[in-house]
Amino acid sequence: MRIILSDGRVLGIETSKDADIVYISHAHSDHSRKGNIFSSQQTFDLLNLDGKTSILHKIDKDVILHPAGHILGSTQIEFTNGHTVVYTGDMKLREGFTSERAKIVKCDELHIDCTFGHPDFEFDSKEIIADRIDRWTRTRLMTGNNVVFGAYSVGKAQELIYILNKYSNITPVVDQNIEEKCKVYEKYGIRLDRVVIGSKEAAEIMKDKFVYIVPFNLVNPQSEKWLTTQYKQVSFAIVTGWAKKYRYRYHAFPLSDHSGFSEILKYVEESGAKEIICHYGNAVFMSKYLRSKGYNSFVDKEWEYRKRCNEPLRKSSTKEQLMISIQT
Ligand SMILES: [Zn+2]
Repeated sequence: MRIILSDGRVLGIETSKDADIVYISHAHSDHSRKGNIFSSQQTFDLLNLDGKTSILHKIDKDVILHPAGHILGSTQIEFTNGHTVVYTGDMKLREGFTSERAKIVKCDELHIDCTFGHPDFEFDSKEIIADRIDRWTRTRLMTGNNVVFGAYSVGKAQELIYILNKYSNITPVVDQNIEEKCKVYEKYGIRLDRVVIGSKEAAEIMKDKFVYIVPFNLVNPQSEKWLTTQYKQVSFAIVTGWAKKYRYRYHAFPLSDHSGFSEILKYVEESGAKEIICHYGNAVFMSKYLRSKGYNSFVDKEWEYRKRCNEPLRKSSTKEQLMISIQT
């Protein structure tokens, strides 16, 4: 998906293919590491890109960024040439402890995150999940266990640190990767009490029962074996929205940075969009569901195909024709 700006430059949406500028909705995206990036400053800082990359803060008067509520600095993009198009990127309407909630943007054409676009996925409020994490963690510690959590290094880990600080009065030990991202959160005023593995403070904390947060993929049978040998009694847990539906080897909390089914429906209804294009995860189900309710809805690939077949490429449009045109 891409946009042609009024000056003829091509803006790639989450992709750098043939684009002059790449819009990156949030710091989980891993599409482009070179050239000109259009994103929030927080996203740019979290991506920690090399010197070959520069951030553009404003690219066209008709292109606007809005909060997406997913992680620090996540945005939705709105663009218009008399026909308003919104691409939400990963999006959450619920409020998080370390991220603001998404804004519902009125539009004609809505490209929406449907990762959890199925009735199996309705998420509890942050307070309910925090309470469950707090009670489980304190119980494990009180019964003589150390606790190791697996969480995505950006977003989920910071949310978890915040919960452990505020609800459990615990300062967790964190992996170096997570520490780097925490520094960016702190730069934007989000206080996170933690110590980094390998430091004197961490060694001190780990003499007693401790909570250690590692990247999600490091909670696995190999690390389980190593940490259990090292620290004897260890309880493992992960945080992921998929825990609403699937069983895991480890205790799993359904802490999600995405909207659940009802939130997606709410966005669709309140946006007033005439066309809804479903992206990611449960896009196929969500698109079918929306069609059954009378919406004009498509899966992203279907939409792209339809656009290619039905519309001439607008890149060749004369300058007078459009301020911005959209290509998929
Ligand atoms: Zn994401």
